[in-house]
Amino acid sequence: MSKDSILVINCGSSSLKFAVINPATEEEKINGIAERLGSSEAILRWTLRYKNNGEKGSQTLGLAAHEAALEGLMGLLREEGMVEGISAIGHRVVHGGEKFSKSCLVTDEVLQAIEDCIKLAPLHNPANLTGIRAAQKIFPGLPNAVVFDTAFHQTMPAEAYLYPIPYSLYKEQGVRRYGFHGTSYRYVGQASADMLGLDINNSNILVAHLGNGASACAIKNGKSIDTTMGLTPLEGLVMGTRSGDVDPNLFSFLNKTLGYTLDETTDLLNKKSGLLGLSEMDSDCRVIEDAAVEGNEHAQLTLDVFCHVLAEKLAGFAAAMGKIDALVFTGGIGENSSIIRKNVIERLSIFGFKLDEQLNDETFRGKSGVITQEGSTVGMVVATNEELMISRDTQVLTA
Ligand code: AMP
Repeated sequence: MSKDSILVINCGSSSLKFAVINPATEEEKINGIAERLGSSEAILRWTLRYKNNGEKGSQTLGLAAHEAALEGLMGLLREEGMVEGISAIGHRVVHGGEKFSKSCLVTDEVLQAIEDCIKLAPLHNPANLTGIRAAQKIFPGLPNAVVFDTAFHQTMPAEAYLYPIPYSLYKEQGVRRYGFHGTSYRYVGQASADMLGLDINNSNILVAHLGNGASACAIKNGKSIDTTMGLTPLEGLVMGTRSGDVDPNLFSFLNKTLGYTLDETTDLLNKKSGLLGLSEMDSDCRVIEDAAVEGNEHAQLTLDVFCHVLAEKLAGFAAAMGKIDALVFTGGIGENSSIIRKNVIERLSIFGFKLDEQLNDETFRGKSGVITQEGSTVGMVVATNEELMISRDTQVLTA
């Protein structure tokens, strides 16, 4: 059997997402998730993409953590005859700090550097490291590669990544804008240029990655020149439960008026704000859209705040790029919500955008394509595929 596939792993603190992909054919053979890791109700769920139009299965793992989940996955892959076809493992790592500007093979030095970045991503990097170490143990014969969410943004100029605070905090503590969703931007940037017949090295592409986490990026000549997320993934756009930009003095205001501690305000901004906090309904955009369509004015206001912030950021990026070849929507909201796309594109009419309502309404559920009229500045949807990008990088690094 030819070793044509890559096992892609995305480890969270209590979950492990996986996929087996052939990067050459872009075929995804299996994908799934091990959830509730660390509890006695851990469970592995998967979809076999090549069987009966996506045969689903699950297996309870009992009291299991990441290593046991990978053991369960190894058993499943063996049963399905996939193990021999896997040549390497690619891991998503959230924060690579300034040390990583591209993907790389895992070595002891790389593991140490990821560990050094824990202070920048205390929730994510430890989980990513756990996944890498477990994979090394459960799949001892396979090389491991790491693909960083932050790496793509390392091309940002200093004027875009520095915060106007004492410079020593950058020099000594690494306080700066890093940006996230980089793997998605790299994929979407290249895919949109290919679809439009543009040379990526001579292009100006704006991308709005709108999912539960949301950010935007200005990609000039294939390189990130600015993005909305910052030191952490809290900054920038309105998200499902994250506030995005607020006045930093909110910390002292809430402390003085309501006695909130640092942790309480941090929790409020990360988990109780955004669409959820403002709408007082749900973090899921669909719920708010349905309410707005039924005439709920507060739901409409929530959507308008989301779109106002996004349109302002995109307009700023457009000015920095000097020209817009395309505005690309991606992520769960970007790929599916014709309502959000219409709202944002109408706010950006000064840049020559004219929506094609029919194309916009017809583009959802993984469909990619242009949603603006002939003669308009191009607005389009591209379904992102971070796993495919991770598999491609891993294959190149291990070839
Ligand atoms: P992601 O984090 O990229 O998986 O995106 C998840 C989010 O996409 C969900 O929380 C929903 O808010 C949003 N979403 C998915 N489908 C739709 C839809 N048809 N309309 C609006 N939002 C959607």
